[in-house]
Amino acid sequence: MSVQAADRRIRSLRPPKLNADPYSAHGFLIEDERRPDGRTERALTVFLTGAECPFTCSFCDLWRYTIDGPTPPGALTKQLSRVRASLDGATADRIKLYNASNFFDLRAVPAEDVVGMASLTSSFAGVTVESHASTIGERTLAFARSISGRLEIAMGLETIEPVAAAQLNKRLDLGRFDTAARFLTDNGIDLRVFVLLGAPYVPAAESVAWTVRTVEYAVSRGASVVAIIPVRGGNGEMERLQGLGQFTPPTLSQLEAALDGCLQFGDAVVTADLWDAESLSRCGVCGPRRLARLGRLNVSGVAEPNVSCHVCGAA
Ligand code: SF4
Ligand SMILES: [Zn+2]
Repeated sequence: MSVQAADRRIRSLRPPKLNADPYSAHGFLIEDERRPDGRTERALTVFLTGAECPFTCSFCDLWRYTIDGPTPPGALTKQLSRVRASLDGATADRIKLYNASNFFDLRAVPAEDVVGMASLTSSFAGVTVESHASTIGERTLAFARSISGRLEIAMGLETIEPVAAAQLNKRLDLGRFDTAARFLTDNGIDLRVFVLLGAPYVPAAESVAWTVRTVEYAVSRGASVVAIIPVRGGNGEMERLQGLGQFTPPTLSQLEAALDGCLQFGDAVVTADLWDAESLSRCGVCGPRRLARLGRLNVSGVAEPNVSCHVCGAA
């Protein structure tokens, strides 16, 4: 199947978008994050509303928060100004600008907003933006030079399992990822990587092992922070693949096993993405305690015994 046909099929199965307002960020949060040097920093994540990503990854649900058409010039700067005004004096060391697309795509982040956001982030020691490996280049360097803090790029590697990687419709091969990672590290830009747990076409029994291998690969290419993202259903394509037996929703036990298996990767910080992780839990007795344990591991990086449960028999 051609890439265009896959795009059309994936898009045709999507439920409607969420009617996003291009002048309002659709959320923000402040949380503690461990850094590779052992420090814990306060990180402000701003979920910006803008143009949809031109890639159409099979597992992606970020398009729900995007608008049709390009981001209006000035809109992102307005969104960020509003978030900053609503912080009520709260401060953070790092700001993560997540725009559900690629920061260096001018359709998603117009040139004037690149300048505006560089100015609005001047009080942060670290600035993180997200980008597909294909949109890393000279604009990345220019942005790194224009901000006061140190730039970190968040890139999706997703999985290195070869069959699954070829089926993600991400237009990413390992060579392209490696080139982008080397470009960043050669230029003193930090690398944060997203890795999937439960990628479609990875057999469920091998899911944890492939996630751990993919994290290890990312670290070997210079990632200093890696976030493990459990694949969620709900975008239509995941339900289609589940019906074909090619997608098995990940479980909380798998997320625990994946994170436990990644705590030994040198100084790299590996965390489990706990957004909506309650939905992974199958047991009301141990689920909250297991999620709390993952939350502690994310911040400490120090192994803890598994939670045992007399109801579901976990651990
Ligand atoms: S590159 Fe990222 S934002 Fe774009 S479709 Fe893929 S997962 Fe979604
Ligand atoms: Zn239980």
